[in-house]
Amino acid sequence: MNQIINHLLKSKNIFLATHVHPDGDAVGSLIAMGLAVEALNKKVTLYNENVLPAVYRFLPSINRIVQHANAENDYDTAVILDCGNLGRIGRLHSAIARMPVIINIDHHVTNTGFGDLQFIDTSASATAEIVYRLIRKMGLPISKDMATSIYTGILTDTGSFRFSNTSRAAFDICSELMGLGVDPYDVAQHVYGTYSLGRIKLLNLAIDSIEISENGKLSVMTLYQRMLDETGTHSEDIDGFIHYAKRIEDIKVAVLIRELSGGKNRPPDSRYHVSLRSDGTIDVSEIAASFGGGGHFSAAGFNIDSGIADVKKQIFKLARVI
Ligand code: AMP
Ligand code: MN
Ligand code: MN
Repeated sequence: MNQIINHLLKSKNIFLATHVHPDGDAVGSLIAMGLAVEALNKKVTLYNENVLPAVYRFLPSINRIVQHANAENDYDTAVILDCGNLGRIGRLHSAIARMPVIINIDHHVTNTGFGDLQFIDTSASATAEIVYRLIRKMGLPISKDMATSIYTGILTDTGSFRFSNTSRAAFDICSELMGLGVDPYDVAQHVYGTYSLGRIKLLNLAIDSIEISENGKLSVMTLYQRMLDETGTHSEDIDGFIHYAKRIEDIKVAVLIRELSGGKNRPPDSRYHVSLRSDGTIDVSEIAASFGGGGHFSAAGFNIDSGIADVKKQIFKLARVI
């Protein structure tokens, strides 16, 4: 931690980035860390390659995050947050890999240890919790903006203090953040309170798509791009749907297969993101890693380049070993 702080103090122009299809922890960690480094009078760029989910747009400094950046600029340091591997940043990852110093701040069990300096704590409830510790160690005051961002990261990564990563530290930090001006009701209203009509209709399609393995232990939801088009929704609207598949009785592992939107070189119907959630008895990060992805014990994911029939076949095979 001290090495990271010493390096940040020496840096002048810092590039901060987080993972594609960002969640609350990715967005919250990015903003809080960005504002902290800026408070040290550094030049900062906050980057994420995707459109940010509407539910996080209430965060006061959300507009500081840019979707396009020139990674060839004179950055002396890159700070990568909530990414198990550098590729999770998306298309800029190889340009970022060439930056002089890379700092890796994360809590995934599958973190590859990339970069020059690492602060990886797999017992942290969220990357935002690690960011909180760094800010405290730097002796910086935590503004209301920073506090709300960190709180949102911890709230969403613990599934509103329901998942197994919910810890006393998570509660202690959030309690302190409330003292710094965070309004939990307001945050919850934004993050969980509002669904567009399209999102409700998409949820209906997602629930309708659920299939259960023969042994009743694995549930699979499938969402195609055309369903998003039909309901006027975006991939960010899918966030949280997998919990409906996980809640079904006797289910040990829930899977959500999502067709990725077709890029120029991506024939439709041939590339999917697969999300995995377990009831806490199965290590899905291991399953995801065997497909080239990663994550946590109970929540993990990977991308797969194949036709849907083959993807489903491979997924249903998993039911035999759970
Ligand atoms: P998701 O199901 O996409 O919401 O992701 C669940 C968890 O797995 C998150 O902690 C992600 O950071 C992680 N994850 C998802 N996809 C990948 C991937 N392709 N490589 C590594 N980690 C991933
Ligand atoms: Mn994340
Ligand atoms: Mn996280």
